[in-house]
Amino acid sequence: MARKFFVGGNFKMNGTKESIKSIVKGLNEAQLDSNVEVVIAPPSLYLQLAQDQLSKANVEVSAQNVYDKPNGAYTGEISVAQLKDSGIKWTILGHSERRTILGESDEVVASKTKAALDGGLSVVWCCGESLEEREGGNTIAVIEKQLAALAAKISGDEWKKIVVAYEPIWAIGTGKVATVQQAQEVHAAIRKFLRANVSEAVADETRILYGGSVNGKNCKDLAKEADIDGFLVGGASLKPEFVEIINSNL
Ligand code: PEP
Repeated sequence: MARKFFVGGNFKMNGTKESIKSIVKGLNEAQLDSNVEVVIAPPSLYLQLAQDQLSKANVEVSAQNVYDKPNGAYTGEISVAQLKDSGIKWTILGHSERRTILGESDEVVASKTKAALDGGLSVVWCCGESLEEREGGNTIAVIEKQLAALAAKISGDEWKKIVVAYEPIWAIGTGKVATVQQAQEVHAAIRKFLRANVSEAVADETRILYGGSVNGKNCKDLAKEADIDGFLVGGASLKPEFVEIINSNL
């Protein structure tokens, strides 16, 4: 089964009402490959604005994070139900900035993912190793540990609503993109893990995105690899070249 190419734009804590309107306008007016599923993830304050301004059929809005409790005394957090209530269908979870800066463990990320799926959201679930872990030869072991925590909480059909994003921490926002070989090797290992620990169907059908300094120039070569099914893009998703990345297969 062919996997539909998927490109996510993670705006992180960037943007203003004006700049987000302008990015959305750019996407509305662009010629986007209709075979690509696109999500953009503005800061939570601007989710509704982006949602209201978007008029492109294959572009959806995603949160960057969600909490795993239904409601209550959790100052500063947003629930799955609140995202659903606002018409948001996606959330990113487990981004390395949340894992490293905000201290989210593999188990917390898995628990949030389960809560998001239970509440009807789809999830871009991120994993990735640090430079130290890569240089120590531990890349695959780190990724497998992150995946194992997720697989312990998620069963069969729930995987249909997960897109995996492999994002080596040393490549995020650094301008140091992984080589196509480095990315393909980890993507193949992720698929192998899914085949061995979940099912053949989930291994064949799950989209695995690469993220980390993707831009308009390097996207085409990465997109050719057998197990690279799209991208999660940070910095370049705020720029016009995001359209080139979406169209990297044309
Ligand atoms: C990201 O934040 O998910 C990311 C991949 O960032 P960048 O593209 O800027 O490296």
